[in-house]
Amino acid sequence: MFMRFRRTIFDTILRPPYHAPAMTNPLFNPVSPKELAEVGQVIDIKENIENFERLVEFVEADLETDSAESRPRRWRAAPVDIRLEFAWSDSLQKIPVVRGQISASIVSVCQRCLEVFPLQINASLKWLLLEPGEEPGEMTDLASHEVWELEQEFVRLVDIVEESLLMAMPLAPKHESVDSCATPVKEFEVVGVETSRPFSDLKSQMEKSEK
Ligand SMILES: [Zn+2]
Repeated sequence: MFMRFRRTIFDTILRPPYHAPAMTNPLFNPVSPKELAEVGQVIDIKENIENFERLVEFVEADLETDSAESRPRRWRAAPVDIRLEFAWSDSLQKIPVVRGQISASIVSVCQRCLEVFPLQINASLKWLLLEPGEEPGEMTDLASHEVWELEQEFVRLVDIVEESLLMAMPLAPKHESVDSCATPVKEFEVVGVETSRPFSDLKSQMEKSEK
């Protein structure tokens, strides 16, 4: 878990001085979690999927198997709803915690029928953000938090959001119900249930032979 965080947050982080001229979007500035915790920062923002580069790569790889014509257009413009709240995790005010809800509708390929469909993702996060060498305090409720070790004191919020979306993506996305799946699969499954009972005959034969 720690390694994954390091890779995602810090290979991509911009490294200007913290007081570099502000960019237009607070998600993309390197920020200090401790400063955000100190002021109890709450961030409510919408951002398009296209601004999450690794997520876009992930979706494109998923869609590659699909024919270009059936791909939904403009999926990159779909919104990601983001709410992040920063606070101190401990009364000593040493370790910042970020809690958040992130939701988005992300195009996916159903692993049951191979049709492209909008997969609703609702991710929650509760992360303690530790700087190098820091330990969570003894009073910290570790059972209800994930612990992320940072490599430096600044993070980009876009990387936190992207990581939690990727973690929330199911390994095998499927239409919520088989009724929503493409027709050929439904037919296949119904036939399968009715005809494949290889052991029922065998069982009755065994019962007969035992008597
Ligand atoms: Zn399906």
